Amino acid sequence: MSLYKSMLLFGAPGSGKGTQGAILGRIPGFYHCSCGDVFRSIDLHSDLGKVFYEYSSRGELVPDEVTVQMWAKVIHAHSVLSQYKPHVDLLILDGIPRTLRQAELMDEHIEVLKIVHLECDNEEEMFDRLRKRALKANRHDDADERVIRNRWKVYEEETAPVLDHYPSEKIISVNSLGSPAEILHDILEVVTPIQQEHFAAFSG
Ligand code: ADP
Repeated sequence: MSLYKSMLLFGAPGSGKGTQGAILGRIPGFYHCSCGDVFRSIDLHSDLGKVFYEYSSRGELVPDEVTVQMWAKVIHAHSVLSQYKPHVDLLILDGIPRTLRQAELMDEHIEVLKIVHLECDNEEEMFDRLRKRALKANRHDDADERVIRNRWKVYEEETAPVLDHYPSEKIISVNSLGSPAEILHDILEVVTPIQQEHFAAFSG
């Protein structure tokens, strides 16, 4: 099986990965897949749904093997349904891989062409965004201050090291405190050439 050509949106909770991913996903030639959205779409009464609720409500990560297996099934289903066309679309991944082990497991499925690192040095600003999101999006994992702080800690301890798994020349840093339009502009500067280089043969 050939590897899915991918770009990773990388950053702390509240850095805007989901916002940018959703915008990019509207552009033909890009397919956005958010691991958090995939988990949230699962029936909470199913076995996997219960596992997800148990971990996410504490601000913890779902175990690696379960996560990657589930992700692989879902993306395969999307390609069977022709929502995601691997020969036409650059896959924009948001929220996976989130641990070094996940990065290793994902090497079986994806070829990472670029990583956009949405960086922010202002922790309080990020917390503020998460609190606002909790009010708007009815997210149980954003509502509690302790859970928010725990997710930040998990990010620093488990997710940030994922960057070491990839060659540094693939990683591009973008300031996540800009406006959505500014950030989108910076990301497009990076991903447009990649999309053209790898998928030009299939475009219009
Ligand atoms: P955020 O956008 O704040 O980073 P997500 O929507 O990506 O949050 O994820 C919400 C929750 O779903 C996480 O706190 C975690 O419990 C679970 N989750 C999402 N992606 C993964 C992953 N790659 N590995 C393990 N757990 C995950």
